[in-house]
Amino acid sequence: MSAAGAGDALLRVGEPRVALVVVDDIARAYDFGGSHPLRPERVLLTYDNLRALGLTEVPEVFEVPARPATEAEITAVHDPDLVRAIRDIDAGLADPSFGLPFGLGTPDDPIFPDMHGASAAVCGASIVAAELVVSGRAVHAFNPAGGLHHARRREASGFCIYNDPAAAIAAVLRMRPDWRIVYLDVDVHHGDGVQWIFYDEPRVATVSLHQSGRYLYPGTGFENETGSGDAAGTAINVPLPPFTGEGDYLWALDKVLFAVTEAFAPDLIVTQLGADTHHGDPLANLSLTMRAYPHMARMIHDCVHRNVAEGRWVATGGGGYQYDTVVPKIWTIHFAEMAGHPEVVPGQWLEDADPTEVSSPHLHTIEASVERVLEACLPRLSALAA
Ligand SMILES: [Zn+2]
Repeated sequence: MSAAGAGDALLRVGEPRVALVVVDDIARAYDFGGSHPLRPERVLLTYDNLRALGLTEVPEVFEVPARPATEAEITAVHDPDLVRAIRDIDAGLADPSFGLPFGLGTPDDPIFPDMHGASAAVCGASIVAAELVVSGRAVHAFNPAGGLHHARRREASGFCIYNDPAAAIAAVLRMRPDWRIVYLDVDVHHGDGVQWIFYDEPRVATVSLHQSGRYLYPGTGFENETGSGDAAGTAINVPLPPFTGEGDYLWALDKVLFAVTEAFAPDLIVTQLGADTHHGDPLANLSLTMRAYPHMARMIHDCVHRNVAEGRWVATGGGGYQYDTVVPKIWTIHFAEMAGHPEVVPGQWLEDADPTEVSSPHLHTIEASVERVLEACLPRLSALAA
């Protein structure tokens, strides 16, 4: 049976099995202020696109309201001291400088009203997406407001306060303690928060492709970060040189994603779909053009149906700082593929620079990284899956 055949069987036409979590209010509330690069509009305009293209009306798609994460769901991945500090700042009980040891009140993570409520709402939306997929109500579910992958156990970081992908993964492991989960992070920045939170958790494999930490925040995500203890081999990092273009990027993604999921045989995949790998992104230097994203979406979707049990896929948004142009289009491309309707994406969205003019070739460097990482990790992943 072909991979496409498996997908068709799981996603029958007319059966509402692809969930879109409704998060307009959540996106508006999680706002560091008008001069901050992470804009709520990236999410709001994604919804506008999805509606304009009819993707919320196709029979395969249903919309689901979110709920806030509970304190227990947040402290499953965060130190209670971090949560307490945020609540105290929100309530005016603590001087804002009290937040600095927790990464709050910094230029990246300035203090804003009701940080706990806004961040718990983003977490809850990703947990709702996970619950829909675990329960079988949805095959795939998308929370475009999610993907706050830099938050650490005890520290807000990189525009992220609570780590919603990590909270969703922890919620899945609570519901299904015997499951294995792959976390795939295609944001241009290393998915460090999720990696460190699950660094010694053998049921979770984290895969991150990103601009090398030698040149970009957060400065981590090298080939030799592979997990610790029983979980050695479950952190998979592909650092990419600046100006890596779509040909080399998609080669690496295809190679790593299929190899890891084949070896680890996950019960569910969580993807962080950061849209800052585009050549025009103001905060980073990878060089993908718009034409890369339908291929990326298709590749992930094919892999999900081939190598993930029942095609269970929870997707979040992430970074992306061309917030009113490129980012909402990229997430719409991903959701159109997820919903089985990639044909609705307007051809003019893909008109972009000539890839050879915005990127430089790095295939040999990338091949060497990928080879090194797979050699270290694949035997361990296979052993953990056995
Ligand atoms: Zn599918």
